[in-house]
Amino acid sequence: MEKLDAPIFVTKSFLPPFEEYVDKIKEIWESNILTNLGPIHEEFKEKLNNYLKTDYTTLCTNGHLGLEMSIKALNLKGEVITTPFTFASTTHALVNCGIKPVFCDIETETYNIDANKIESLINENTTAIMPVHVFGNPCDVETIEKIAKKHNLKVLYDAAHCFGVEIDGKGIGSFGDISMISLHATKVFNSIEGGALTYKDPVLKDTLRLYKNFGITGPESVIAVGGNSKMNEFQAAMGVVNLRYMDKQIEDRKKIAYLYRELLKDVKGIKVLSDIGGVKHNYAYFPILVDEIEFGKTRNELYEELKNFNIFTRKYFYPLTSNFACYQEECKDLDLKNANYVADRILTLPIYGSLDLSIVEYIVNAIKIIKKEEIIK
Ligand SMILES: *Cc1c(COP(=O)(O)O)cnc(C)c1O
Repeated sequence: MEKLDAPIFVTKSFLPPFEEYVDKIKEIWESNILTNLGPIHEEFKEKLNNYLKTDYTTLCTNGHLGLEMSIKALNLKGEVITTPFTFASTTHALVNCGIKPVFCDIETETYNIDANKIESLINENTTAIMPVHVFGNPCDVETIEKIAKKHNLKVLYDAAHCFGVEIDGKGIGSFGDISMISLHATKVFNSIEGGALTYKDPVLKDTLRLYKNFGITGPESVIAVGGNSKMNEFQAAMGVVNLRYMDKQIEDRKKIAYLYRELLKDVKGIKVLSDIGGVKHNYAYFPILVDEIEFGKTRNELYEELKNFNIFTRKYFYPLTSNFACYQEECKDLDLKNANYVADRILTLPIYGSLDLSIVEYIVNAIKIIKKEEIIK
């Protein structure tokens, strides 16, 4: 097999046709409003709210600040039960807001928080559950809601990966008290940087607005210790234009995911995710779990050897956030068996709308060569 000339990375940011974006940002020269909830911000908010099928949406600079704003708006304190199998942002958001993250183990099918292990971690200091819909696969939202109701806890979903995901026709952002969907350049849908907070309670509209703009209510009135996490007009313009292309992007991702699954079906030691009944997926990532005994090589060996083929994968999520240098000391005695197992074996393969299907075949062939299997012609 001939080596590819150009490197293939795990993702590639979506950009719309240049002229379309330029056309949209002309409006900024007409309005002379660059930020502070201008007309394009409002337009984007409406369009996104429809697309995401939720009651209310609040836009912000990025997903991470959206999480911190949500923690403050929900008045979370003390301890919050969360998952260590996530991006740094989830855990850091809690700690930055003075909250102790209490790590719950994950389940090995979806890599999401194990809802059946949450209750044993609840104590009188617990104020919320903060699960992550990992790789865009929904958590067990029903069980989580039941537990939250029973113990009077808030639920804040890190839905960073979930743009466009639905459960039985309901937008993923309509579960829990607030969901945060990241609109970062590397995610399924981007507004360059950005975050969307979705929720049902209209009261949160005003609270979140306060927190994203310094707590200001008028020229001489400040009523809360807010920060600055406003989305500007250039970001919103990118969002409005990109939104036109998203159905097609997700369709293209689906074709890639299905081809990967088909081609990897018979490769022993590689486990892939499956679709879940009733869920509209967005195919945000294509993670594989490498069983070193059946595959014959470890995840780390596969990761390194794929580089020889100009394929650059990522170990999402390794290490667990509980194993980060800044947290490991206080987390060293935790029982996170499944999370450690998955973090040591997970590898995410390239997937993005414009990834050619022939490259998907090339990547799978490379995996087979590394495993030293025959290439099926
Ligand atoms: C990307 C991401 C975030 C942060 O979102 P930004 O928009 O990049 O700030 C939070 N949590 C998870 C799981 C993510 O993947």
